[in-house]
Formats: sequence, C-alpha cells, structure tokens
Amino acid sequence: MFREMRRSRQQLSEKDSLAVLDRGKYGMLALLGDNGYPYAVPLNYVLWQGKLYFHSAKQGHKIDAVRNEPKASFCVVDSDELVPQEYTTYFRSVIVFGDVSIVSDEPEKRSAIEALAKKYFPEDSEQHRNAAIDREYAPLCMLRMDIRHISGKQAIELVKRSEER
Ligand SMILES: Cc1cc2nc3c(=O)[nH]c(=O)nc-3n(C[C@H](O)[C@H](O)[C@H](O)COP(=O)(O)OP(=O)(O)OC[C@H]3O[C@@H](n4cnc5c(N)ncnc54)[C@H](O)[C@@H]3O)c2cc1C
Repeated sequence: MFREMRRSRQQLSEKDSLAVLDRGKYGMLALLGDNGYPYAVPLNYVLWQGKLYFHSAKQGHKIDAVRNEPKASFCVVDSDELVPQEYTTYFRSVIVFGDVSIVSDEPEKRSAIEALAKKYFPEDSEQHRNAAIDREYAPLCMLRMDIRHISGKQAIELVKRSEER
C-alpha cells in the first residue's frame, strides 16, 4: 500500500526515523483541505507511546480537514545543511503516513498534553506545568496520528559520512 523508497541506500532504519521524530521540534501536517487542495500546516508535536500527538484549537481549517478525511502525512526535517558549491542540501527527513483523529478520551487527552508540555519544557515543575495546562485545557483539542507507515531518508553525502566514521 505504501511505496518503497527508490534510493534504498539513503533509507534510514525505523529506529533512526523514530529518533528523528523524537528530537524534532515541528513538522508539516498535510491534510486534505478545502476544495481538494492539500493543506500542509506547521505544528509542534510529541511522539508518545508510538503515536504522534498535536495540540490545536477546537475550530479551524485543520480541524475541519481532519473531520472530513483522517488520512494524513506528517513531515519532519532533521537536517537541511545547504552546500551551495555543490548545488545540494545534506538533508535528513522523515515522513509519516497515518490516520488523524480528535482525542475524545479525557485521560488520554490529559496525558498527551502533559507529554507534549514535557517535551518542550522538560525543566518545568509539575506544579507550574499543570497550572499552565489547566488554564488552556477547556478550549484545547488534542489530535492523535496513528502511524501506518514511516520512512526516513538522508542525503547520500550523509550516508557516506556515517560510513567513514
Ligand atoms: C513552527 C510552528 C509550530 C506551530 N505549532 C502549532 C501547534 O502545536 N498547535 C497549533 O494549533 N498551531 C501551531 N502553529 C500554528 C499553526 O501553523 C496554525 O496557524 C494553527 O494551528 C491554526 O490552524 P487552523 O487550520 O486552525 O487555522 P485557520 O485560521 O482556520 O486557517 C485558515 C487559513 O489561514 C492560513 N493559515 C493558517 N495557519 C497558517 C500558518 N501557520 N501559516 C500561514 N498561513 C496559515 C491558511 O491559508 C488557512 O487555510 C504552529 C506554527 C508554526 C510555524
């Protein structure tokens, strides 16, 4: 159902792809938007218990798109080292395909926003984090992406670099 990578030497292992997702700060969630136009929207996220979670307002283009069509992809760029003299980029990125849904289970919603908050502000105290979450909780919507396929790819130059080590 999902395509193989043509240049398989550049493919990252699943472990390395998950590591990219773990350390990434944001990615582009690509949804089927209005009138058949793809809607790629930048979002922060957390990889938690094997799923991706996003926080969102309860209304808007993104939420309408998710309600309309759960199938989505999410792309995170890990490296974008521009090498002008070679007219290339030493890139590393991951693309996830999956189904996005609005989290309706309250304990899951709470745990997911806590995991997201811990990712972005790990030094925070539990008390301060909980107070911040409580403040924003009512208008908050959590989205979950169930991962169906994950692929990671890096520039051939990065493959060679890692082989030389
Ligand atoms: C690095 C980064 C991280 C972000 N993290 C989050 C996050 O974790 N959670 C979150 O809710 N939002 C985040 N945002 C903001 C996010 O990109 C959206 O603007 C926001 O989620 C509202 O989306 P919407 O579809 O509800 O907006 P709507 O206002 O309903 O969108 C209407 C239209 O506004 C335009 N639009 C919306 N967002 C953008 C945008 N970012 N850039 C340009 N045009 C836009 C589009 O044309 C869209 O069709 C982040 C943005 C950036 C750049």
